[in-house]
Amino acid sequence: MVASRSTVRDLRRRNRRVVLERIYVNGQISRLAVSGQTGLSAATVANVVAELLAEGIVAGAGSEESEGGRPRTILAINPAHGCFVGVDVGETLVSVELFDLTLRSLRTFTHPLHANDNCPDNVVRYIVAGLDTVLADAAIPADNVVGVGVGVPGIVERAGSVHVRAPSWGWRAVPLMAMLDKEINLPIVLDNGAKAMAQAELWFGAGRGADDLVVLLIGTGIGAGIITQGALYRGATNGAGEWGHTTLTLDGRPCRCGSRGCLEAYAGAAGIMTSLREAAPRSTLLNDDDQEGTILALATAAGQGDPIAVRVLEDTTHYLGAGIANLINLVNPRRLVLGGWVGQQIGPYILPRLREIVARYALEQPLRAATVVLGQLGPNAVAKGAATLALDVFLTEAGDDRRRPSRRAMARVTA
Ligand SMILES: [Zn+2]
Repeated sequence: MVASRSTVRDLRRRNRRVVLERIYVNGQISRLAVSGQTGLSAATVANVVAELLAEGIVAGAGSEESEGGRPRTILAINPAHGCFVGVDVGETLVSVELFDLTLRSLRTFTHPLHANDNCPDNVVRYIVAGLDTVLADAAIPADNVVGVGVGVPGIVERAGSVHVRAPSWGWRAVPLMAMLDKEINLPIVLDNGAKAMAQAELWFGAGRGADDLVVLLIGTGIGAGIITQGALYRGATNGAGEWGHTTLTLDGRPCRCGSRGCLEAYAGAAGIMTSLREAAPRSTLLNDDDQEGTILALATAAGQGDPIAVRVLEDTTHYLGAGIANLINLVNPRRLVLGGWVGQQIGPYILPRLREIVARYALEQPLRAATVVLGQLGPNAVAKGAATLALDVFLTEAGDDRRRPSRRAMARVTA
């Protein structure tokens, strides 16, 4: 019967995913511990592991003593089985990073992206150049790449063909997936950068162990990746998490999205620079052509007690704190992770004050459950996150029909 055959296949696929996920999360683990953590029987785990070993996805990594019996083999992901590529299409750069199968970084390629340079054709060209460069540098053939994840600003719509809307770049329904597909003959996953980062912090960073999590990407733009019960929350059209464009001030500063008073217009890099310009039009901290330099100078000056810098960061913290309190009241997360390049630069300085302001605005009940922490994945969190999205597809598809995920299979999962 067709139904029962598909049920058996689904079950086998689910078991493989569960076992692989345990090996990824733990790094090294015995069959017995996999069984203990998943509730799968010892026989099921033994069968799945035998397949994974035969396919070379998993390898033995030593052994541990067992009480009275034979030593137990420790299992680990085989880093040499294949590679992932993670791409961060940021507002100021395109970064392409090559990872082994355990998501250890092997090579990185970065191309600066200027505001007059971010048309879709150029972005695709930089991604392709980056991919070629990291593979050539690492002497790895393209065939070894299991999947390519790409994180972009804006909303990635998945209805029909996958396309990107990024109003701040003037991108309206750009068919980026089809454009990349034409140039890159590998399975590709495309998603919003904040969602990619959320997946990476959940699995490998400050979000580990928190199934209800919000990852805050604060850079030139602002976005949030929302994880509920261990899975990304996408909303009806994959547009959930556009936290930067929630209104904080009625009829406030104009925002790049065309609206006014958005959180991003106050707490994104350009918004913070506007606050600095308003506080001290001739501040030596201000360099209109260098967002990253200005935010770094501001954070350093605030740390040294510079009164203007302290005031600007106090204002920024106030806006961010109110925005985070809104998220806590709406989403009721267990943990909120502050990331993105602005988040990283100002985070260590503002965190104690940020927590006070969040507590001032959030409701007591959801506030009690929530902790605000700093991200752990550094400047490449989006690239790693994008690779994690490709890993997520690999976990579902790996070994399906005893072959690598095909280009079609990957596209199906993505769409
Ligand atoms: Zn806006």
